[in-house]
Order: sequence, then C-alpha cells, then structure tokens
Amino acid sequence: MPDNIAADAFVAFDRVQKSYDGEVLVVKDLNLEMPKGEFLTMLGPSGSGKTTCLMMLAGFETATHGEIRLDGREINNIPPHKRGIGMVFQNYALFPHMTVNENLSFPLEVRGMGKSDREAKVKRALEMVQMGEFGSRRPAQLSGGQQQRIALARALVFEPELVLMDEPLGALDKQLREHMQYEIKHLHENLGITVVYVTHDQSEALTMSDRVAVFEDGRIQQLAPPDDLYERPDNSFVAQFIGENNKLPAVVKQISGDVATVELKNGKLCTALAVKCGQPGDETLISIRPERVTVGTADGQNATDAKVLELIYLGDHIRCRLDVHGNDEFVVKVPNSAGHEHLSVGETTRVTWAPEDARALDPL
Ligand code: ADP
Repeated sequence: MPDNIAADAFVAFDRVQKSYDGEVLVVKDLNLEMPKGEFLTMLGPSGSGKTTCLMMLAGFETATHGEIRLDGREINNIPPHKRGIGMVFQNYALFPHMTVNENLSFPLEVRGMGKSDREAKVKRALEMVQMGEFGSRRPAQLSGGQQQRIALARALVFEPELVLMDEPLGALDKQLREHMQYEIKHLHENLGITVVYVTHDQSEALTMSDRVAVFEDGRIQQLAPPDDLYERPDNSFVAQFIGENNKLPAVVKQISGDVATVELKNGKLCTALAVKCGQPGDETLISIRPERVTVGTADGQNATDAKVLELIYLGDHIRCRLDVHGNDEFVVKVPNSAGHEHLSVGETTRVTWAPEDARALDPL
C-alpha cells in the first residue's frame, strides 16, 4: 500500500485510471481517501471524469488500473448489488407501477427482509424525508421534488453506510433545489452516513460539503474544505472555477519565502503570496477576489491606477467594473456603507489590496 493512502480510510481510490476506449484516459492516476461520515463533493466541468469515478465506486464501471477500497476491502471485482451502497441519480426513476411504499420496500425484499421489518423501515425512511403521508401514492401522483425525496428515501431505506448522489437535484427548480440541499445536508448530519456527491454547480458544492474535490480533465486539481478552496486556491483553474476572480498577468521578479515580488504589465511592482508561480523571470497570474480590493484609496503597497467602466447598484454593495492595466474585466465589490467614496463612470481612480489577498498562480 502506498504511503499516501491511509489504511483506515473508509473510501479509497488508489492510483485509479480509467479509459473507455483503451487509448484516452478520462481518469488519470486518481488518489482520494475519505474518512467515515464525510460529505465529499466531486465538482468540475462537464466531461472532467466525476461520474466515471462515481460509477467505478458504485461498481457499474471497472477501473482500468489501480484499486478502489471500501472500509479497507478491495471492491474492484465485487458486483454493485453486493457493495451495500445507496444511490440517487437525477434520472434514477422510481418504478411507476408501484406505490411509494412498494418502491421503498423493494430494496429490502431483494435483501430478503421479512414483512414487518420492511414496513417499519419503509415508514421510518418516509418520515426521514417528511413524506410519511404519501406511502400509498404512485410516483405520477407526486411533484418532481416529492419524487426526488422518495428516491432519496429509497437510497437510505436499507441503511447503507455509503450513499452516492449524481446531480440528484439537477431537474428541480432553483428554490426547491436550495431547500433540498439543506435537507440532504441535515440528513447526512443526523444519520452519520458517508456521502459522495457529484455536481457541476459550485454553490451546491460549497453549501453541502465537508470537502470538495475539484476535477479538471480526469485529475483532482484541489481537494479541500469549501472555505479553503475559495480563500486559498492552489492554482489558476481552481481560482477561476470557484467564485469570482480578478486576474492580472505579471512576471515574477523575486521570491523570498512565501512572498513573491512581481511586475505588473505597466511596470508597477507588487507583492503577492507565492503559491504556484515558478521562478524569477516566469510569467504568473495574480489572483485577487473582488471583495478584497479597495477603490479610491491612493496609498498601500499594491495601489495602482484604474479607470471606472461600469457601476451596478446591488443594494448592499456596488459592483464596479474597472480597467486595470488593460484588464477591463477587473471587478470590485464596493460595500454600500456610510462614508464610502462616490464613484462615477469614466473617472480615473486607484485600486489597492493587501499583499496576503493576492496569490501568484500559474499562467493557465
Ligand atoms: P463528468 O461526470 O465530469 O461530466 P464523465 O465521467 O461523465 O464526466 O465523462 C468523462 C469523459 O468520459 C468524457 O469525455 C465522456 O465523454 C467520456 N465517457 C463517459 N462515459 C463514457 C462511456 N460509457 N463510454 C465512452 N466514453 C465515456
């Protein structure tokens, strides 16, 4: 067993690769370990390999290389129904000819459970998703959100320790989706189950997860708790993918410890955290969050000229788009608070930020 995978991990992907056609690797040397009880989300653009990873864990796809372990046991050759994993998918349809009770009872019957035990477990699972009154209805007599709750109850009814969810809320409207995000999060907390959740929606990932694995092109670019991903992205892809991000191209002049001195396009020297910026002489992208920039103050180590291009009033803050050294997509969220300087479109101003709020990253 390699050093980087803990022996006591509940779920482990150990140097896993997957190719569908024997040529292109859609999952490239994936290492991932999860402790029991964790809610982990695989987040990334379409085609980045998230579903493939989930399907390998479920047993519907086999890894081309590497090992997948559940509770310390290699499961590569164990068929899906013997893995004891609950599953909820966006289009994982309920059986239309069965009532809700029968739909939920089915996975228990398959496992050979007696009638009275089945009835007790079905009742409990329906109560868990607040659908206790709906046992005798058929799926067609339920709304989309209610059907999805039943699909969730069906995944939980046999009390699996691991539940996999692939875009389970994708078909629901925004309000219901947000409501269900909290319900799933609370169920996870109350039941102590381990969840692997797949989505391409970053706000969903940040809301629900203990940790998020950001996928790009078959690799995990960063695996970290939500606040870490936002506050401390490891590279430009993650900075770009999670939240809004201002990018200023620069050249590294000097690196001293974890601080980089860089030269912006207009020759101005700035300092930033040296996160992933190579050596002096290399190109870098300085990444700064819009809420970490101050507009109008002339001083500060990183203060530089900017021109106001657009102002959008959003109640609690004003979204200000500026031209900073030729980047005309530089966005600042200016708090709408007492004493804040009035800005107008077309004026030349200054922007500044603290060196620790600027990260020198790879040029993409
Ligand atoms: P994601 O879930 O991040 O959207 P997928 O895991 O579905 O990504 O897909 C990763 C890549 O694998 C994509 O290029 C996709 O076209 C390809 N792929 C997925 N499923 C299959 C399949 N059954 N056969 C061949 N290629 C597939």
